[in-house]
Amino acid sequence: TAKSDGRNTIRFFDPYIQKVMEEKSSMLQQLRDAIDSKQFLLYYQPQVDQNAHVIGVEALIRLKKATGELIPPGQFIPLCEESGLIVPLGQWILREAMMQVKRWEKDAQKSQWRVSINVSTKQFEREDFVHVVESVLNETAIEPSLIRLELTESLLIGDSAKALVKIEALKTLGVSLSVDDFGTGYSSLQYLKHLNVDELKIDQSFIRDFLTDRSDALIVETIISIGKNFNMEVIAEGVESEEQFERLKAMGCHYFQGYFFGKPTPPENLYM
Ligand code: C2E
Ligand code: MG
Ligand code: MG
Ligand code: MG
Repeated sequence: TAKSDGRNTIRFFDPYIQKVMEEKSSMLQQLRDAIDSKQFLLYYQPQVDQNAHVIGVEALIRLKKATGELIPPGQFIPLCEESGLIVPLGQWILREAMMQVKRWEKDAQKSQWRVSINVSTKQFEREDFVHVVESVLNETAIEPSLIRLELTESLLIGDSAKALVKIEALKTLGVSLSVDDFGTGYSSLQYLKHLNVDELKIDQSFIRDFLTDRSDALIVETIISIGKNFNMEVIAEGVESEEQFERLKAMGCHYFQGYFFGKPTPPENLYM
């Protein structure tokens, strides 16, 4: 039901499809404008060790509309990935997070904090990704070991030969790597043995009910033992109660993140 109207316009005669297309393109324009007008900001959520001592933070992006309304990433990251906008946005995220590390350099306590940065598949797959990370590291002159890149399982499985080469190059730069949402992707354990990553991050979907759900508890236990056997650190996300924290500690989990310790907040509000 679509026919070309010449030039760049395609007119849809199905009013529903046309509406969806228009909303998408207007949202995309808003996102482009948001990059230009600096409407994106990074929130930070604490990560703690077994003593509930903060050892780092995860950077989580937000979009702040002119009205002051905060839009969570779930509402714009997928469109950014689909449209390729994630590439410039991802570079902005890397630079902003590394500049935050720089700002914390003189802070007695925060200067030791490691900052975890989410990397999307589209961003990682770019030929120049490693180069971008390297140049931002050089530009900010921060300690690379304070940066932990969170990659997803799907990204690691996609083109695994290429991914492995990039991972080695990133490790050579001195940054560390985490597998985000571990256990939710296409779970082939085959790729793990070749994978030089430092951390597995247990997805919050397994943490939510593991105190009462036997299968979730088994999955959590299994991930922790994979971490042990492969010499990787294990962090649990979505920890919301003391009971979950205690139980995870008893299971041997190394690090913890979730509302129980602190919600994502602007950097100036992080008093630990
Ligand atoms: P993620 O990386 O798995 O991040 C964890 C999400 O869980 C965050 O949602 C965080 O606010 C939320 N969370 C933390 N603690 C708890 C808790 O105790 N309970 C519950 N129910 N939720 C908790 P957020 O900030 O909305 O981010 C959602 C997703 O968006 C992230 O999942 C990540 O995949 C993506 N994302 C966020 N920031 C970035 C970014 O800078 N770049 C990219 N590429 N993706 C990002
Ligand atoms: Mg993450
Ligand atoms: Mg996660
Ligand atoms: Mg998650």
